[in-house]
Order: sequence, then C-alpha cells, then structure tokens
Amino acid sequence: MDFHEVTRTEEMEKFRKEVGAWLEHNVPEEMKTPVEEEDRSEERYHFWRQKNKELGAKGWLYPTFPKQYGGGGLSGEHLAVLRDTFEDYRAPYAHRPSYLAGVLLVWGTEEQRQKFLVPLVKGEMVGFIKYTEPHSGSDLSSYESTAVKDGDTWVLNGSNAFPGGHEDETNAVYFGPMLTDKEAPRHRNLGFFIIPYPTPGLTFKRMRLVHGEGQCFIYLGDVRVPADHLVGGDHQGWQVMGTALEQEHGGQGPSFHRDAPIDNILSYMQQHLKERKSPGGDPVLQQIAIEAYIESHVDTLFAMRVRSMYYARMEMQWEGPMGFLYNRMHGIRNVGRIRDVMGMDTLVGPHDPLAPQGGAQDAYQRSSFILQHGAGSLNISKVVLARRIGISRTREQAAPTPATATSFSV
Ligand SMILES: Cc1cc2nc3c(=O)[nH]c(=O)nc-3n(C[C@H](O)[C@H](O)[C@H](O)COP(=O)(O)OP(=O)(O)OC[C@H]3O[C@@H](n4cnc5c(N)ncnc54)[C@H](O)[C@@H]3O)c2cc1C
Repeated sequence: MDFHEVTRTEEMEKFRKEVGAWLEHNVPEEMKTPVEEEDRSEERYHFWRQKNKELGAKGWLYPTFPKQYGGGGLSGEHLAVLRDTFEDYRAPYAHRPSYLAGVLLVWGTEEQRQKFLVPLVKGEMVGFIKYTEPHSGSDLSSYESTAVKDGDTWVLNGSNAFPGGHEDETNAVYFGPMLTDKEAPRHRNLGFFIIPYPTPGLTFKRMRLVHGEGQCFIYLGDVRVPADHLVGGDHQGWQVMGTALEQEHGGQGPSFHRDAPIDNILSYMQQHLKERKSPGGDPVLQQIAIEAYIESHVDTLFAMRVRSMYYARMEMQWEGPMGFLYNRMHGIRNVGRIRDVMGMDTLVGPHDPLAPQGGAQDAYQRSSFILQHGAGSLNISKVVLARRIGISRTREQAAPTPATATSFSV
C-alpha cells in the first residue's frame, strides 16, 4: 500500500468533485498560493478573507464543527477532502484557521460562543495567536504583559512579537494569555483574553523576516476589553492556552498531506534520468532520496494515526506531539537532501524563468527555518514529548481538546 495514495468512498469522491468544482468556479489563477512568500499580496489576503465568508456560509470553513455554531456538522473525512483538494488546487484552505474556535468549544460560555465562535466559524471574524513576548517565547509562563480589572472592564498593557495581522482588518481578534496576578504562582497567574482589532490602544508594526512580512509586533497601551473577553477564570489562562497549544501541536490531527519537497526531489531525479543527465541515477543520491522517501511515508502514517485518534475521540498523550515533531524534523532534514540532490539548482528562485520546478525548492529552503521556531521551537517540542513519556523531572498530561472535552462532533 502506498500511504500517499488515499482511497476514498463513493460519497467522499462525490464530495471531492463538488469541492473541485467550487474551486474551479471561484479561484482565479492569480489568487492561488504563490511559490514565493513575498508575493502574498494584501489583495490576495482580502480576496481569501471574502472567500472564507462564502466557505463559512456553506459550512466548509469549520466543516466538523456543530451546526448550531455555524459549522458544517460534517465528518473528519470531509475535512480531509477539503484540505487535500484545496492543496491540490494550490488554494489556501481555511486561510486563517483559528485554534480559538476549539478553545471556545471547550472553555467558552454559551454567550462567548455566540459572540466569538459563530463569527469565526462563519468566516466573518479572524483570529491571530498572541503568545510570544519580546523576552519570552519558549518560556511562555513567564508572561509579563498585564491585565488589571477596573470595574466591569480589563485594562491591558504589554507587547508581543511574531503574531500575524493586517492593518486594515475590520473584524479580527488577538487571543492569548495576560498576567492577572503577579503574586500567584506560575501557571496560576494568567488569564486568557480575546482582544478585538481594531481597538483603541492596540497598534502594530510589521516584522520583516527572511521569508516575508507575515508577522508583526503588537503593542497594547491601556487597551480596555469587557469582562466577557476573558475565557475561563482569571487564574486559568495557562490551562485554557493548553487547549489551543494541544490542537496546534498535533493533538488535532492533520490530513493526509502532500510532501511537495520530496515529490520535487523525485521528479527532478526522474527527469534527469530520462534526459540521461546526472544526478538521475547517481547511486549516492539514490541513497539520500530513498531515505527521504521512506521518512515521508512514516510521516504520513503518524498523521493518519493522530487524525483517526482525534475523530475517534481517543485520549492522546504523546502521539500528537510526536507526529508534529517528526513532521518538522523531516522537513528540516529535507532541506539538506534537496541541496545534496539538486546542487546549485536549489538556489534558483521563483522569479527566475529557468528555475527548476518554478523555484519551489529555493523558496522551501529559505522558509524552512519556520519549522525550527514557528509554533514553538523543536527543542520545546522535545521537552513536551519527554514529559509525556515519563523521562522528565515533571509529568505532563495532554490538555483537553474539543474531541476529548465536548459532546459535539468535531
Ligand atoms: C515564522 C514565525 C511565525 C510565528 N508566529 C507566531 C504567532 O503567530 N504568534 C506567536 O505568539 N508567536 C509566533 N512565533 C514565535 C515562536 O512561537 C517563537 O519564536 C518560539 O516559541 C521560540 O521563542 P523565542 O523566539 O523567544 O526563542 P527562545 O525562547 O528565546 O529560545 C531560543 C532557543 O533556546 C531554545 N530553548 C529555550 N528554552 C529551552 C529549554 N527549556 N530546553 C531546550 N531548549 C530551549 C529554543 O529551542 C531556541 O532554540 C512565530 C515565529 C516564527 C519564526
């Protein structure tokens, strides 16, 4: 069995065709995902913001979420079909999926679900993660940005590095922890807040990173939010954030994703073999390519296991983080392999008409450092895994996710 080949039921095949027809009808070539990160224009962002509202209206944006909150009430299989078909079409599925939606299912009051979850699920609102402070990324619990209660409102002050954002957004929220009690012990001193954007006192500045300008700094200067913008108790922020992190770090289960860098290595070698050029049949490079090929299948197997566990509502401890970590380590190892196999061709960028494979491998190796740091660093993923399998000073349990904590379909 080739684990990259997905066998679908007749019903899912029909659904795949329906999704494909929607994409064909709705997405012009220039709005597809560009190879070069820097070519992601604001126009494209707003195009997809609008399309997400249309997807939301069809229940396709959060397909597995309960219908009562605007979701599709569909199965995990439907979600996998949506993700895969969008990927095949080079369209960004769920342009801004938000882990906040899962947090609200687990921790939100009914009023908070109506206020925040429904617009998120319908694609009217978009959520950005606000965890990293300039001084603390890995050590999230050493949070310094403060939330102080003043009557019926909270007054927020502080700053964050790396969140996403768009200056002309009209209906966005930032979500993450704030220090509510300086005297309380670690992990019991935070609240988890939803902060609307735009709002007075919240400003931001774009960060210019090697792979593009998708991240920014945000500054909170006496930002006021009503009491219902606190999710969970005012000392429960660490626990609430655990639900968001658990989903992001593998606890939700990816679909059967493509492995474009590996596909590109193989097709590069096949092409050279056909043209009787090196490195088509080079025995040393064959060794490298085969290692990558096998690893790619193992990666898919991890993804399949985690996804099936999530939709079967099984308790996961180490399975999610392990799949997440393996996927990123595999991605980083592939950068070296691409350079070994493709040599100087790896350095020809997407804007060069002679670039092999449209410059995809050049763009990949430049953006691959995200795999090292984005969504938390690899070292921290290893720390989490060590705590889950019992080889660390402290033991850690997986935080609840919508699959384990709610009676809704997810
Ligand atoms: C492209 C990109 C997108 C991002 N998007 C977001 C976003 O949307 N929202 C957001 O809030 N943040 C975001 N981040 C920030 C990201 O989560 C942090 O960069 C990451 O958590 C590491 O934090 P740091 O940069 O402060 O590094 P540090 O925490 O200072 O770590 C520096 C190094 O020390 C290592 N280290 C630290 N502590 C330990 C330990 N206990 N054991 C072993 N090694 C350790 C780390 O692994 C790392 O290699 C993004 C980052 C990138 C690069």
